[in-house]
Amino acid sequence: MAELKLSESRDLTRVERIGAHSHIRGLGLDSALEPRAVSEGMVGQAPARKAAGVILQMIKEGKIAGRAVLLAGQPGTGKTAIAMGMAKSLGQETPFAMMAGSELFSLEMSKTEALMQAFRKAIGVRIKEETEVIEGEVVEVQIDRPAVSGAAAKTGKLTMKTTEMETVYDLGAKMIEALGKEKVQSGDVIAIDKVSGKITKLGRSFARSRDYDAVGPQTKFVQCPDGELQKRKEVVHCVTLHEIDVINSRTQGFLALFTGDTGEIRAEVREQIDTKVAEWREEGKAEIVPGVLFIDEVHMLDIECFSFLNRALENEMAPILVVATNRGITTIRGTNYKSPHGIPIDLLDRLLIITTQPYTEEEIRKILDIRSQEEDVEMSEDAKVLLTKIGVETSLRYAIHLITSAALACQKRKGKIVEMEDISRVYQLFLDIKRSTQYLMEYQSQYMFNEIPREKGEDEETT
Ligand code: ATP
Repeated sequence: MAELKLSESRDLTRVERIGAHSHIRGLGLDSALEPRAVSEGMVGQAPARKAAGVILQMIKEGKIAGRAVLLAGQPGTGKTAIAMGMAKSLGQETPFAMMAGSELFSLEMSKTEALMQAFRKAIGVRIKEETEVIEGEVVEVQIDRPAVSGAAAKTGKLTMKTTEMETVYDLGAKMIEALGKEKVQSGDVIAIDKVSGKITKLGRSFARSRDYDAVGPQTKFVQCPDGELQKRKEVVHCVTLHEIDVINSRTQGFLALFTGDTGEIRAEVREQIDTKVAEWREEGKAEIVPGVLFIDEVHMLDIECFSFLNRALENEMAPILVVATNRGITTIRGTNYKSPHGIPIDLLDRLLIITTQPYTEEEIRKILDIRSQEEDVEMSEDAKVLLTKIGVETSLRYAIHLITSAALACQKRKGKIVEMEDISRVYQLFLDIKRSTQYLMEYQSQYMFNEIPREKGEDEETT
Protein backbone atom coordinates (compact mmCIF):
# COMPACT_ATOMS: atom_id res chain seq x y z
CA MET A 1 0.00 0.00 0.00
CA ALA A 2 2.72 2.36 1.05
CA GLU A 3 4.61 1.51 -2.12
CA LEU A 4 1.60 2.30 -4.24
CA LYS A 5 1.22 5.70 -2.65
CA LEU A 6 4.84 6.46 -3.28
CA SER A 7 4.64 5.64 -6.97
CA GLU A 8 1.43 7.65 -7.26
CA SER A 9 3.04 10.72 -5.85
CA ARG A 10 6.06 10.26 -8.09
CA ASP A 11 3.86 10.12 -11.15
CA LEU A 12 2.10 13.24 -10.07
CA THR A 13 5.32 15.20 -9.80
CA ARG A 14 6.28 14.05 -13.28
CA VAL A 15 2.96 15.18 -14.70
CA GLU A 16 3.26 18.55 -13.04
CA ARG A 17 6.64 19.06 -14.57
CA ILE A 18 5.39 18.76 -18.12
CA GLY A 19 4.08 22.25 -18.60
CA ALA A 20 2.75 23.67 -21.86
CA HIS A 21 6.22 24.99 -22.74
CA SER A 22 8.48 22.51 -20.97
CA HIS A 23 9.88 21.34 -24.32
CA ILE A 24 11.24 24.82 -25.07
CA ARG A 25 14.89 25.05 -24.05
CA GLY A 26 15.96 28.17 -25.89
CA LEU A 27 15.39 30.07 -29.12
CA GLY A 28 17.31 27.52 -31.20
CA LEU A 29 19.64 30.04 -32.88
CA ASP A 30 23.19 29.51 -34.04
CA SER A 31 26.05 31.83 -33.10
CA ALA A 32 25.20 34.17 -35.99
CA LEU A 33 21.65 34.40 -34.57
CA GLU A 34 20.26 32.40 -37.51
CA PRO A 35 17.39 30.14 -36.45
CA ARG A 36 18.00 26.42 -36.92
CA ALA A 37 14.97 24.64 -38.43
CA VAL A 38 14.34 22.54 -35.33
CA SER A 39 16.42 23.24 -32.29
CA GLU A 40 16.04 23.52 -28.52
CA GLY A 41 12.41 22.45 -28.87
CA MET A 42 11.66 25.31 -31.27
CA VAL A 43 10.20 24.79 -34.71
CA GLY A 44 9.74 27.29 -37.57
CA GLN A 45 8.67 30.88 -36.82
CA ALA A 46 12.12 31.84 -38.09
CA PRO A 47 11.83 35.66 -38.47
CA ALA A 48 10.25 36.06 -35.02
CA ARG A 49 12.87 33.87 -33.37
CA LYS A 50 15.65 35.77 -35.09
CA ALA A 51 14.20 39.12 -33.99
CA ALA A 52 13.87 37.82 -30.42
CA GLY A 53 17.50 36.68 -30.64
CA VAL A 54 18.64 40.17 -31.62
CA ILE A 55 16.81 41.64 -28.62
CA LEU A 56 18.38 39.00 -26.41
CA GLN A 57 21.83 39.86 -27.69
CA MET A 58 21.24 43.52 -26.88
CA ILE A 59 20.11 42.58 -23.38
CA LYS A 60 23.18 40.42 -22.84
CA GLU A 61 25.48 43.18 -23.99
CA GLY A 62 23.69 45.55 -21.65
CA LYS A 63 23.10 47.94 -24.56
CA ILE A 64 19.46 48.68 -24.00
CA ALA A 65 17.30 49.34 -21.03
CA GLY A 66 13.73 50.48 -20.88
CA ARG A 67 12.86 49.13 -24.30
CA ALA A 68 9.73 47.24 -25.02
CA VAL A 69 8.86 44.51 -27.46
CA LEU A 70 5.44 43.37 -28.59
CA LEU A 71 4.88 39.80 -29.75
CA ALA A 72 1.73 39.96 -31.82
CA GLY A 73 0.05 37.10 -33.62
CA GLN A 74 -2.87 34.74 -33.78
CA PRO A 75 -3.61 32.38 -30.89
CA GLY A 76 -1.29 29.40 -30.66
CA THR A 77 1.44 30.80 -32.89
CA GLY A 78 4.15 30.50 -30.27
CA LYS A 79 4.30 33.97 -28.69
CA THR A 80 4.58 32.61 -25.18
CA ALA A 81 6.90 29.88 -26.44
CA ILE A 82 9.27 32.54 -27.84
CA ALA A 83 9.21 34.48 -24.57
CA MET A 84 10.03 31.26 -22.71
CA GLY A 85 12.84 30.61 -25.18
CA MET A 86 14.25 34.06 -24.39
CA ALA A 87 14.03 33.34 -20.67
CA LYS A 88 15.92 30.06 -21.07
CA SER A 89 18.67 31.72 -23.07
CA LEU A 90 19.33 34.45 -20.51
CA GLY A 91 22.13 33.83 -18.08
CA GLN A 92 21.46 32.79 -14.49
CA GLU A 93 22.11 36.30 -13.28
CA THR A 94 19.64 38.06 -15.55
CA PRO A 95 16.22 38.10 -13.93
CA PHE A 96 13.12 37.09 -15.90
CA ALA A 97 9.71 37.85 -14.44
CA MET A 98 6.50 36.69 -16.02
CA MET A 99 2.85 37.51 -15.51
CA ALA A 100 -0.44 37.48 -17.36
CA GLY A 101 -2.34 40.74 -17.78
CA SER A 102 -5.35 39.25 -16.02
CA GLU A 103 -3.35 38.56 -12.83
CA LEU A 104 -3.34 42.26 -12.05
CA PHE A 105 -7.03 42.15 -11.31
CA SER A 106 -6.97 39.25 -8.91
CA LEU A 107 -4.31 40.32 -6.45
CA GLU A 108 -5.01 41.96 -3.15
CA MET A 109 -3.21 45.10 -4.12
CA SER A 110 -3.62 47.96 -6.51
CA LYS A 111 -2.91 47.27 -10.17
CA THR A 112 -0.03 49.69 -10.28
CA GLU A 113 1.52 48.19 -7.13
CA ALA A 114 1.36 44.74 -8.73
CA LEU A 115 2.99 46.14 -11.86
CA MET A 116 5.64 47.92 -9.81
CA GLN A 117 6.47 44.64 -8.04
CA ALA A 118 6.67 42.85 -11.39
CA PHE A 119 9.04 45.54 -12.70
CA ARG A 120 11.27 45.28 -9.66
CA LYS A 121 11.33 41.48 -9.92
CA ALA A 122 12.89 42.02 -13.34
CA ILE A 123 15.68 44.33 -12.13
CA GLY A 124 18.71 42.57 -10.75
CA VAL A 125 21.37 44.02 -8.48
CA ARG A 126 24.84 42.50 -8.48
CA ILE A 127 26.35 43.33 -5.15
CA LYS A 128 30.07 42.90 -4.77
CA GLU A 129 31.53 42.41 -1.35
CA GLU A 130 35.19 42.27 -0.54
CA THR A 131 36.19 40.36 2.53
CA GLU A 132 39.32 41.07 4.48
CA VAL A 133 41.42 38.21 5.61
CA ILE A 134 44.84 37.68 7.02
CA GLU A 135 46.87 35.90 4.46
CA GLY A 136 49.03 33.02 5.49
CA GLU A 137 48.78 29.72 7.19
CA VAL A 138 46.69 29.38 10.31
CA VAL A 139 48.43 27.24 12.84
CA GLU A 140 46.90 25.34 15.63
CA VAL A 141 48.58 25.93 18.94
CA GLN A 142 49.59 23.49 21.55
CA ILE A 143 49.19 24.92 24.99
CA ASP A 144 50.70 23.88 28.24
CA ARG A 145 47.98 24.74 30.68
CA PRO A 146 49.17 26.20 33.93
CA ALA A 147 47.61 24.87 37.11
CA VAL A 148 44.68 27.11 37.85
CA SER A 149 42.83 27.26 41.19
CA GLY A 150 43.79 23.73 41.94
CA ALA A 151 41.27 22.25 39.54
CA ALA A 152 42.79 19.06 38.22
CA ALA A 153 40.71 19.14 35.07
CA LYS A 154 42.23 22.39 34.05
CA THR A 155 45.82 21.36 34.41
CA GLY A 156 47.99 19.59 32.06
CA LYS A 157 48.87 19.68 28.49
CA LEU A 158 46.23 20.31 25.88
CA THR A 159 47.00 19.14 22.40
CA MET A 160 44.67 19.75 19.51
CA LYS A 161 44.43 17.82 16.33
CA THR A 162 44.74 19.79 13.16
CA THR A 163 42.27 17.81 11.05
CA GLU A 164 39.29 20.13 11.42
CA MET A 165 41.19 23.27 10.83
CA GLU A 166 39.26 25.97 9.05
CA THR A 167 40.54 27.55 5.93
CA VAL A 168 42.43 30.79 6.22
CA TYR A 169 39.51 32.64 4.73
CA ASP A 170 36.84 31.26 7.05
CA LEU A 171 38.88 31.77 10.14
CA GLY A 172 40.05 35.23 9.15
CA ALA A 173 36.48 36.28 8.38
CA LYS A 174 35.18 34.82 11.63
CA MET A 175 37.79 36.50 13.75
CA ILE A 176 37.16 39.85 12.16
CA GLU A 177 33.43 39.43 12.57
CA ALA A 178 33.78 38.47 16.23
CA LEU A 179 36.45 40.86 17.30
CA GLY A 180 36.56 43.73 14.87
CA LYS A 181 39.39 44.07 12.43
CA GLU A 182 41.47 46.53 14.38
CA LYS A 183 41.72 44.03 17.20
CA VAL A 184 43.04 41.13 15.22
CA GLN A 185 46.74 41.05 14.66
CA SER A 186 48.89 38.48 13.11
CA GLY A 187 50.41 36.18 15.64
CA ASP A 188 47.45 36.48 18.04
CA VAL A 189 46.23 33.32 19.62
CA ILE A 190 42.52 32.75 19.44
CA ALA A 191 40.40 30.34 21.43
CA ILE A 192 37.47 28.85 19.55
CA ASP A 193 34.73 27.09 21.42
CA LYS A 194 33.90 24.21 19.10
CA VAL A 195 30.38 23.84 20.46
CA SER A 196 29.13 27.42 20.52
CA GLY A 197 31.55 28.79 17.93
CA LYS A 198 32.46 31.63 20.33
CA ILE A 199 35.78 33.23 19.59
CA THR A 200 37.96 34.74 22.29
CA LYS A 201 41.23 36.48 21.72
CA LEU A 202 43.93 35.41 24.11
CA GLY A 203 46.52 37.84 22.92
CA ARG A 204 50.11 37.16 22.06
CA SER A 205 51.19 36.03 25.44
CA PHE A 206 48.78 33.42 26.59
CA ALA A 207 50.40 32.65 29.86
CA ARG A 208 47.85 34.55 31.91
CA SER A 209 45.87 32.08 33.89
CA ARG A 210 42.56 33.92 33.66
CA ASP A 211 42.54 33.36 29.94
CA TYR A 212 42.10 29.67 30.54
CA ASP A 213 39.38 29.91 33.13
CA ALA A 214 36.81 30.71 30.54
CA VAL A 215 37.60 27.90 28.19
CA GLY A 216 36.61 24.28 28.45
CA PRO A 217 37.99 21.09 26.95
CA GLN A 218 36.08 21.67 23.72
CA THR A 219 38.14 24.74 22.98
CA LYS A 220 40.75 24.76 20.33
CA PHE A 221 43.51 27.30 20.07
CA VAL A 222 44.79 28.67 16.87
CA GLN A 223 47.28 31.33 16.01
CA CYS A 224 46.63 33.94 13.38
CA PRO A 225 48.97 33.71 10.49
CA ASP A 226 51.86 36.07 10.20
CA GLY A 227 50.86 38.71 7.78
CA GLU A 228 48.68 41.68 7.13
CA LEU A 229 44.97 42.10 6.77
CA GLN A 230 44.28 42.02 3.08
CA LYS A 231 41.39 42.41 0.74
CA ARG A 232 41.22 38.93 -0.63
CA LYS A 233 37.99 37.50 -1.72
CA GLU A 234 35.26 39.04 -3.80
CA VAL A 235 31.82 37.62 -3.13
CA VAL A 236 29.05 38.48 -5.57
CA HIS A 237 25.39 38.28 -4.62
CA CYS A 238 22.67 38.61 -7.22
CA VAL A 239 19.28 39.70 -5.96
CA THR A 240 16.35 41.54 -7.45
CA LEU A 241 15.16 44.95 -6.32
CA HIS A 242 11.89 43.29 -5.32
CA GLU A 243 13.71 40.90 -3.01
CA ILE A 244 15.52 43.81 -1.37
CA ASP A 245 12.15 45.60 -1.00
CA VAL A 246 10.50 42.62 0.69
CA ILE A 247 13.41 41.91 3.01
CA ASN A 248 13.44 45.54 4.12
CA SER A 249 9.72 45.95 4.43
CA ARG A 250 9.02 45.75 8.13
CA THR A 251 5.43 44.70 7.63
CA GLN A 252 6.34 41.69 5.53
CA GLY A 253 9.73 40.26 6.39
CA PHE A 254 11.72 37.98 4.15
CA LEU A 255 9.44 34.96 4.65
CA ALA A 256 6.99 36.67 2.34
CA LEU A 257 9.45 35.86 -0.45
CA PHE A 258 8.53 32.20 -0.07
CA THR A 259 4.78 32.62 0.37
CA GLY A 260 4.51 35.31 -2.29
CA ASP A 261 2.20 37.12 0.08
CA THR A 262 4.08 40.39 -0.06
CA GLY A 263 1.19 42.84 0.13
CA GLU A 264 1.83 46.47 -0.76
CA ILE A 265 5.27 47.87 -0.14
CA ARG A 266 5.46 51.44 1.07
CA ALA A 267 6.85 54.06 -1.28
CA GLU A 268 9.32 55.25 1.41
CA VAL A 269 10.87 51.79 1.65
CA ARG A 270 11.43 51.76 -2.11
CA GLU A 271 12.86 55.28 -2.08
CA GLN A 272 15.35 54.37 0.64
CA ILE A 273 16.38 51.27 -1.23
CA ASP A 274 16.84 53.16 -4.49
CA THR A 275 19.00 55.73 -2.70
CA LYS A 276 21.09 53.00 -1.09
CA VAL A 277 21.52 51.14 -4.37
CA ALA A 278 22.51 54.40 -6.09
CA GLU A 279 25.16 54.91 -3.38
CA TRP A 280 26.51 51.39 -3.85
CA ARG A 281 26.68 51.97 -7.59
CA GLU A 282 28.67 55.16 -7.11
CA GLU A 283 31.07 53.38 -4.79
CA GLY A 284 31.45 50.60 -7.32
CA LYS A 285 29.93 48.08 -4.95
CA ALA A 286 26.90 47.25 -7.02
CA GLU A 287 25.72 47.03 -10.60
CA ILE A 288 22.22 47.08 -11.99
CA VAL A 289 21.30 44.17 -14.25
CA PRO A 290 18.14 45.03 -16.18
CA GLY A 291 16.29 41.78 -16.85
CA VAL A 292 13.14 40.93 -18.75
CA LEU A 293 9.55 41.43 -17.71
CA PHE A 294 7.11 39.40 -19.80
CA ILE A 295 3.43 40.32 -19.71
CA ASP A 296 1.19 37.88 -21.56
CA GLU A 297 -2.35 38.91 -22.61
CA VAL A 298 -1.32 42.55 -22.47
CA HIS A 299 -4.71 43.62 -23.87
CA MET A 300 -6.11 42.79 -20.41
CA LEU A 301 -4.34 45.86 -18.97
CA ASP A 302 -6.35 49.05 -18.69
CA ILE A 303 -5.49 52.65 -19.47
CA GLU A 304 -4.09 53.24 -15.96
CA CYS A 305 -1.69 50.33 -16.34
CA PHE A 306 -0.62 51.45 -19.80
CA SER A 307 0.19 54.90 -18.54
CA PHE A 308 2.14 53.32 -15.66
CA LEU A 309 4.15 51.27 -18.21
CA ASN A 310 4.90 54.38 -20.26
CA ARG A 311 6.29 56.08 -17.17
CA ALA A 312 8.11 53.07 -15.77
CA LEU A 313 10.00 52.55 -19.03
CA GLU A 314 11.55 56.01 -18.64
CA ASN A 315 13.39 54.90 -15.52
CA GLU A 316 17.08 54.31 -16.18
CA MET A 317 16.92 51.01 -14.28
CA ALA A 318 13.94 49.75 -16.31
CA PRO A 319 14.04 46.16 -17.56
CA ILE A 320 13.24 45.08 -21.11
CA LEU A 321 9.50 44.74 -21.33
CA VAL A 322 8.16 41.97 -23.55
CA VAL A 323 4.41 41.90 -24.02
CA ALA A 324 2.24 39.54 -26.05
CA THR A 325 -1.26 39.68 -27.41
CA ASN A 326 -3.46 37.82 -29.87
CA ARG A 327 -5.97 40.66 -30.25
CA GLY A 328 -6.54 42.73 -33.37
CA ILE A 329 -8.14 46.17 -33.26
CA THR A 330 -10.05 46.29 -30.03
CA THR A 331 -11.19 48.56 -27.20
CA ILE A 332 -8.55 49.83 -24.79
CA ARG A 333 -9.79 48.72 -21.37
CA GLY A 334 -11.05 51.59 -19.30
CA THR A 335 -11.83 53.75 -22.34
CA ASN A 336 -14.28 53.81 -25.23
CA TYR A 337 -11.49 54.02 -27.78
CA LYS A 338 -10.32 51.30 -30.06
CA SER A 339 -6.71 50.77 -30.91
CA PRO A 340 -4.51 48.09 -32.52
CA HIS A 341 -4.08 45.21 -30.03
CA GLY A 342 -6.03 47.25 -27.45
CA ILE A 343 -2.81 49.17 -26.69
CA PRO A 344 -2.80 53.01 -26.69
CA ILE A 345 -0.95 54.47 -29.66
CA ASP A 346 1.64 56.32 -27.56
CA LEU A 347 2.77 53.09 -25.93
CA LEU A 348 2.50 51.18 -29.19
CA ASP A 349 4.86 53.69 -30.74
CA ARG A 350 7.57 52.75 -28.24
CA LEU A 351 7.28 49.05 -28.95
CA LEU A 352 9.41 47.00 -31.31
CA ILE A 353 6.81 44.75 -32.88
CA ILE A 354 7.53 41.12 -33.70
CA THR A 355 4.79 39.19 -35.46
CA THR A 356 4.23 35.46 -35.42
CA GLN A 357 2.73 33.59 -38.37
CA PRO A 358 0.42 30.56 -38.54
CA TYR A 359 2.26 27.25 -38.88
CA THR A 360 2.53 25.10 -41.98
CA GLU A 361 1.44 21.46 -41.86
CA GLU A 362 5.06 20.32 -41.72
CA GLU A 363 5.78 22.61 -38.74
CA ILE A 364 2.68 21.44 -36.89
CA ARG A 365 3.81 17.87 -37.43
CA LYS A 366 7.25 18.65 -35.96
CA ILE A 367 5.82 20.47 -32.94
CA LEU A 368 3.47 17.54 -32.28
CA ASP A 369 6.44 15.16 -32.55
CA ILE A 370 8.40 17.15 -29.99
CA ARG A 371 5.39 17.33 -27.65
CA SER A 372 4.82 13.56 -27.92
CA GLN A 373 8.42 12.95 -26.93
CA GLU A 374 8.08 15.44 -24.06
CA GLU A 375 4.94 13.68 -22.82
CA ASP A 376 6.54 10.25 -23.29
CA VAL A 377 3.93 9.12 -25.80
CA GLU A 378 4.80 6.77 -28.63
CA MET A 379 2.65 7.05 -31.74
CA SER A 380 2.29 5.11 -34.97
CA GLU A 381 2.98 6.89 -38.27
CA ASP A 382 -0.73 6.83 -39.20
CA ALA A 383 -1.71 8.32 -35.86
CA LYS A 384 0.82 11.12 -36.35
CA VAL A 385 -0.59 11.90 -39.80
CA LEU A 386 -4.12 12.04 -38.42
CA LEU A 387 -3.15 14.18 -35.44
CA THR A 388 -1.32 16.61 -37.75
CA LYS A 389 -4.41 16.83 -39.95
CA ILE A 390 -6.49 17.61 -36.86
CA GLY A 391 -3.93 20.26 -35.90
CA VAL A 392 -4.26 21.90 -39.33
CA GLU A 393 -8.06 21.76 -39.35
CA THR A 394 -8.62 22.85 -35.75
CA SER A 395 -5.74 24.34 -33.77
CA LEU A 396 -2.25 23.40 -32.67
CA ARG A 397 -3.28 23.64 -29.02
CA TYR A 398 -6.22 21.31 -29.48
CA ALA A 399 -3.99 18.75 -31.21
CA ILE A 400 -1.39 19.04 -28.42
CA HIS A 401 -4.12 18.36 -25.85
CA LEU A 402 -5.12 15.18 -27.66
CA ILE A 403 -1.65 13.62 -27.20
CA THR A 404 -1.99 12.65 -23.55
CA SER A 405 -5.68 11.82 -23.79
CA ALA A 406 -4.99 9.53 -26.76
CA ALA A 407 -2.24 7.86 -24.74
CA LEU A 408 -4.77 7.20 -21.98
CA ALA A 409 -7.22 5.73 -24.48
CA CYS A 410 -4.42 3.50 -25.75
CA GLN A 411 -3.55 2.45 -22.21
CA LYS A 412 -7.19 1.60 -21.57
CA ARG A 413 -7.36 -0.81 -24.50
CA LYS A 414 -4.00 -2.19 -23.36
CA GLY A 415 -2.29 -1.07 -26.57
CA LYS A 416 1.44 -0.45 -26.78
CA ILE A 417 1.58 2.62 -28.97
CA VAL A 418 -1.02 5.23 -29.85
CA GLU A 419 -2.86 4.29 -33.05
CA MET A 420 -5.30 6.12 -35.29
CA GLU A 421 -8.24 4.62 -33.38
CA ASP A 422 -7.07 6.27 -30.14
CA ILE A 423 -6.78 9.63 -31.84
CA SER A 424 -10.22 9.40 -33.40
CA ARG A 425 -11.70 8.21 -30.11
CA VAL A 426 -10.50 11.27 -28.21
CA TYR A 427 -11.36 13.50 -31.16
CA GLN A 428 -14.95 12.37 -30.72
CA LEU A 429 -14.82 12.74 -26.95
CA PHE A 430 -13.52 16.29 -26.90
CA LEU A 431 -14.81 19.04 -29.10
CA ASP A 432 -12.64 21.67 -30.72
CA ILE A 433 -13.85 25.25 -31.04
CA LYS A 434 -15.41 24.82 -34.47
CA ARG A 435 -17.52 21.83 -33.51
CA SER A 436 -18.41 23.32 -30.16
CA THR A 437 -19.62 26.51 -31.85
CA GLN A 438 -21.59 24.53 -34.39
CA TYR A 439 -23.24 22.59 -31.60
CA LEU A 440 -24.10 25.81 -29.79
CA MET A 441 -25.65 27.29 -32.91
CA GLU A 442 -27.88 24.27 -33.23
CA TYR A 443 -28.96 24.06 -29.63
CA GLN A 444 -28.59 27.68 -28.54
CA SER A 445 -32.24 28.05 -27.67
CA GLN A 446 -31.97 25.33 -25.02
CA TYR A 447 -29.25 27.13 -23.03
CA MET A 448 -29.85 29.48 -20.12
CA PHE A 449 -30.57 33.21 -20.51
CA ASN A 450 -32.09 32.70 -23.89
CA GLU A 451 -35.56 32.79 -22.40
CA ILE A 452 -36.04 36.53 -22.88
CA PRO A 453 -35.32 38.05 -26.28
CA ARG A 454 -32.56 40.70 -26.16
CA GLU A 455 -33.20 44.31 -26.98
CA LYS A 456 -31.33 45.79 -29.90
CA GLY A 457 -27.85 47.11 -28.99
CA GLU A 458 -27.76 45.31 -25.65
CA ASP A 459 -24.93 43.00 -26.56
CA GLU A 460 -22.56 45.64 -27.94
CA GLU A 461 -20.39 45.53 -24.86
CA THR A 462 -19.44 41.90 -25.37
CA THR A 463 -18.72 41.93 -29.06
P1 ATP B 1 -2.07 32.67 -27.30
O1 ATP B 1 -2.19 33.86 -28.17
O2 ATP B 1 -3.33 31.86 -27.36
O3 ATP B 1 -1.59 32.96 -25.92
P2 ATP B 1 0.58 31.82 -28.10
O4 ATP B 1 0.93 32.47 -29.38
O5 ATP B 1 1.18 32.38 -26.87
O6 ATP B 1 -0.98 31.69 -27.99
P3 ATP B 1 1.82 29.36 -27.35
O7 ATP B 1 1.14 29.17 -26.05
O8 ATP B 1 3.22 29.84 -27.31
O9 ATP B 1 0.96 30.29 -28.28
O10 ATP B 1 1.77 28.01 -28.24
C1 ATP B 1 0.86 26.95 -28.05
C2 ATP B 1 1.60 25.65 -27.80
O11 ATP B 1 2.42 25.32 -28.91
C3 ATP B 1 2.53 25.71 -26.62
O12 ATP B 1 2.56 24.45 -25.99
C4 ATP B 1 3.87 26.03 -27.25
O13 ATP B 1 4.94 25.63 -26.43
C5 ATP B 1 3.80 25.27 -28.55
N1 ATP B 1 4.54 25.99 -29.61
C6 ATP B 1 4.12 27.08 -30.26
N2 ATP B 1 5.01 27.49 -31.16
C7 ATP B 1 6.03 26.62 -31.09
C8 ATP B 1 7.25 26.49 -31.84
N3 ATP B 1 7.58 27.38 -32.78
N4 ATP B 1 8.05 25.49 -31.53
C9 ATP B 1 7.71 24.59 -30.58
N5 ATP B 1 6.58 24.66 -29.87
C10 ATP B 1 5.73 25.65 -30.13
